[in-house]
Amino acid sequence: MPTPLLADRFGRVVRSLRISVTDRCNLRCLYCMPDGEIPWFPKKRILTYEEIGRVATILASLGVREIRLTGGEPLVRRDLPVLARMLSRIEGIEDLAVTTNGLLLAEMAEPLLVAGVRRFNVHMDSLEPAGFSRMSRRAGLDRVLSGLRELERLKATPVKINVVLLRGVNEDQIVRFVELALCRPYQVRFIELMPLGGGEPFELDRLVPGREVRRRIEEIYPLVPVGRDRPSAPANVFRIAGGAGDIGFINPVTEPFCADCDRIRITADGRIRTCLFSRTETDLAALLRGGSPDARIAEALQAAVARKEAGGCLDLHQFYRERLQRKMWQIGG
Ligand code: SAM
Ligand code: SF4
Repeated sequence: MPTPLLADRFGRVVRSLRISVTDRCNLRCLYCMPDGEIPWFPKKRILTYEEIGRVATILASLGVREIRLTGGEPLVRRDLPVLARMLSRIEGIEDLAVTTNGLLLAEMAEPLLVAGVRRFNVHMDSLEPAGFSRMSRRAGLDRVLSGLRELERLKATPVKINVVLLRGVNEDQIVRFVELALCRPYQVRFIELMPLGGGEPFELDRLVPGREVRRRIEEIYPLVPVGRDRPSAPANVFRIAGGAGDIGFINPVTEPFCADCDRIRITADGRIRTCLFSRTETDLAALLRGGSPDARIAEALQAAVARKEAGGCLDLHQFYRERLQRKMWQIGG
């Protein structure tokens, strides 16, 4: 067997790339962004589509097979289908997905699918208009729901729905989301709140552990374990008897899945991060804009992956002390 081209010291091989295409967003979720003035990256710092395409091509030649576009809110970046088309045509790329808050999905789903996007993860924290606006500090539930209907119309299913629970704020939505998965072909995934420091101060007692969510669901609906879609998939999936969709749990805080992680991330301003919780990053933008040839960029990417953290980066106490310099919306979730 040839040595993998993007391997770390612990034998993990990188196959999956998350690209943040913007730090900007049309919502202000409580746990992700502040509500006031936000120091956005200046436009000239954001990687151009040509720069993103170049890095993705180099990474594909090193073994990356899947790309997910994220942000901020990726759909607010102008001409996103142009980038999607470019990325979906790269030799070696087998899967292109988008994580979105769904606000612009009704208009954008079709052009993105035509451009080569294969899957959408839609984030939505409440199925009630007032709860939605409380969680995201903006109105828009009806737009997200019409985006979901559009995905069904276009047969872009199964859709994954990401729900972050905040204790005392939207935990009343657990059963409503399960009932949504009972009647629609959606995989509803409950994601544990992470201390990524962008929104309101993280309080550990706001976190609703995935295990507790599962227990609360099982008091009403028996769940049948299905397992992970693949070993590196973050969600542990369960079926509900007779359901059109299923339920997933992503528990990065209480049950970290670092040992199977196959991801790296590129921030909108061109930094490579080997973990959401990395304390270091590699300045790819400087190489891209400094005239480095592809071979030099490939070396820098391999060196970054070689330094990938063993895991356990999410040390809550450490996090409180360090006050992360980069917030979730500046990394790309
Ligand atoms: N704007 C898009 C969206 O909301 O899906 C893409 C970016 S967002 C940062 C990606 C995912 O990260 C969303 O599902 C969001 O709920 C989640 N997220 C953001 N901040 C988080 C936090 N502090 N803890 C857990 N998940 C978080
Ligand atoms: Fe925007 Fe997504 Fe962050 Fe919400 S979670 S503020 S939608 S980037």
